[in-house]
Amino acid sequence: MTPASSWTRRHVISLWDVTPAEYDTILTTAASFTEVLSRRNKKVPTLQGQVVTNLFFEPSTRTRSSFELAAKRLSADTLNFAPGSSSLSKGETILDTAKTYLAMGTDIMVIRHKQSGVPQAIANEMERLGTNVRVLNAGDGQHAHPSQALLDLYTMCCLLDEKNPRVELLKGKKIAIVGDILHSRVARSNIWSLTAAGAEVHLAGPPTLLPKGFANFTQPLNDQTNTDIPRDLQMHWQLEPALENADFVMTLRLQHERMTDHMLPSLREYHQQFGITRERLKLCNPGVKVLHPGPVNRGVELSSDLMDDPELSLIPQQVTNGVAVRMALLYLIGGGR
Ligand code: ASP
Repeated sequence: MTPASSWTRRHVISLWDVTPAEYDTILTTAASFTEVLSRRNKKVPTLQGQVVTNLFFEPSTRTRSSFELAAKRLSADTLNFAPGSSSLSKGETILDTAKTYLAMGTDIMVIRHKQSGVPQAIANEMERLGTNVRVLNAGDGQHAHPSQALLDLYTMCCLLDEKNPRVELLKGKKIAIVGDILHSRVARSNIWSLTAAGAEVHLAGPPTLLPKGFANFTQPLNDQTNTDIPRDLQMHWQLEPALENADFVMTLRLQHERMTDHMLPSLREYHQQFGITRERLKLCNPGVKVLHPGPVNRGVELSSDLMDDPELSLIPQQVTNGVAVRMALLYLIGGGR
């Protein structure tokens, strides 16, 4: 397994400046944990004595459970915070909630919030206070969802080479990301990882959910860091050009909870224009696979039968792989042994 000491990041908040070499470290480490998870005894003492706190200020099913299981498999002690039954409802601020868990000896905070920027704000506060607490972003507003994009990356790379997943496997592969791009932190994080891997990324969605500005989404990275990562991002307001010869199709949920206006004529019309069906997948390369971060609106972004088809859908593998990838992240930032 890659020694955690070769990893230099303290927090994982976004993927915008992650390098292909760092992605490979995460993928290789996740592969080691996949092997651990196939054993009879699935627990390793890596984070024994460390406290991992899940601070989920926004509802979550799979991400919270996945992080909790990952921490437990690494033998960490876990704490779970749920806003409904907490002092937040008594007026406590988010930073004070974080400081309460700091005082209990938390080593790693896994944070989800409906507002973009909260994990970064807590990470800044933990640094300002001179603590050693590390922060993992488990999804903030429309900004980023790094662990989801990393498990997507791992799932695709494992399909191409199960024994040795690495980013170069995706070089030149065509990946269509379809649907509500505007509100999707999953799309934003995937754009960073997939373009860094050298994939050809095509975004498709109705104009209301795919603003023109996305064409320049990766521009600031090249400007700010002078990296020579050539990023290939294309946009379409129709589905077909994105699907033609695609190797992977990533569908996204319509995020009604983040929509401020009526952005679609109707769900039926949306499905007619952008819903992924068997018929439409005929435009893709043979062997195409479909991904979805979940939760899925069956029959809206993708047809129900497709979701359950093990030949076409990678959705169960995404959930399974999520645990190994989150173990890798906890191990790397936790400096595990
Ligand atoms: N579960 C993902 C997220 O938290 C995707 C979604 O909610 O649609 O962003």
